[in-house]
Amino acid sequence: MQLTDNQYSQQLQQWLAQSTKTHFTNGQQQWPVREWVKSLAKANLSVAGWPAPYGDGELRKQLHLHYRIARNAPGSLGLCITSHLDIGARCLMEKASPQLAEQWLAPALRGDAILALAMTEPQAGSDLQGIEFSAEKKEQGWSLTGVKRGITNLPFADAVIVLARTAPNRSPFSYTLFLLPMNTPGVEREVALPTLAYPGCLGGMQVKNALIPEQNVLGAPGTGLILLMQHMATERLFVSARMRGISEMLLEKIQQHSALATDQLAKLKTQSLAFNAFFEQCVENYIRQSFPARESASLKYLGSQLLKTLCATLSEQEGAAGYLADGNAELYQREAMGLALAGGSEEIMLAIIGSEL
Ligand SMILES: Cc1cc2nc3c(=O)[nH]c(=O)nc-3n(C[C@H](O)[C@H](O)[C@H](O)COP(=O)(O)OP(=O)(O)OC[C@H]3O[C@@H](n4cnc5c(N)ncnc54)[C@H](O)[C@@H]3O)c2cc1C
Repeated sequence: MQLTDNQYSQQLQQWLAQSTKTHFTNGQQQWPVREWVKSLAKANLSVAGWPAPYGDGELRKQLHLHYRIARNAPGSLGLCITSHLDIGARCLMEKASPQLAEQWLAPALRGDAILALAMTEPQAGSDLQGIEFSAEKKEQGWSLTGVKRGITNLPFADAVIVLARTAPNRSPFSYTLFLLPMNTPGVEREVALPTLAYPGCLGGMQVKNALIPEQNVLGAPGTGLILLMQHMATERLFVSARMRGISEMLLEKIQQHSALATDQLAKLKTQSLAFNAFFEQCVENYIRQSFPARESASLKYLGSQLLKTLCATLSEQEGAAGYLADGNAELYQREAMGLALAGGSEEIMLAIIGSEL
């Protein structure tokens, strides 16, 4: 991945070498998300690429963080950190009022408060205009009621940015984003989903008449879905940085196996080069603030297809090795399936691309 700041890259590599040694063991069931966020913050590595006053505004640095973590540490830990820093906290930094940002951003960036972004519900994932989670205006603030499920970080998050319905019809202006502290009376956390690639990381909550103050609204009431759609382009770029990290690592693993025919390897390399080149172009366009939904959807779709192809090849290689060698192909395959859904499924990416043709 293009990055001009070699010093940052070296510091990050050193930090990762140290952290994966001390924190990470294969097959771990509890991921040290909070410890990693705290440790990244202490090393000044967590938001070095954010705009001032947090960082130097070099977006590539921030993408590099998630790309590197994906290459070095498999599985949910990386997705949890992306969800906290550049999906959750970034959404607050960009869209919350100065008072709300002041209250939550500093603890989030220190790792004292872990964040999640909750859109999906048991009956509404791809179709967000079908959500039932609702918010009603009261004299003392907003009262929230409903269920969210399948949310990264929710089993241990301290606060969650939540999309709620604030008007009964399906108009794009019927939804609002709120910051809901998980210790608000009326919020009940569900047991983490028993997912195999993401143990302990995906969860839900049941919320009944949880009262939050007026200042916990992000943006103007009624603009939540529109703000979220803008934020989804950012989410897809960061998820794609993870896909790039995992796919490069997988390609290296595949190359180490001698059995693969040269033309098969050439096909995989070409696919990977094409994805990487498109990724770089998307970063440029994002920086120039010209990154339409079609492009973010195309990037995520291509990354998802590449990852699945690489995982299938690695599975074949590991299968062919029989009982003589152990491998992680299954774990990567499950992660590829998860990343294909996070930020919107492949079918939805194709629908977005198709609608703009
Ligand atoms: C690892 C992981 C992390 C996640 N993290 C979060 C998170 O932090 N926050 C959050 O809010 N959500 C999160 N999700 C949920 C994710 O956003 C949803 O799974 C995704 O949006 C799909 O929604 P769904 O699961 O409800 O499936 P559904 O919407 O029910 O779709 C089921 C299937 O039908 C297809 N489909 C649906 N509608 C159409 C259509 N119109 N045309 C063609 N095909 C269609 C879909 O592609 C899919 O294959 C996460 C999911 C995973 C796997």
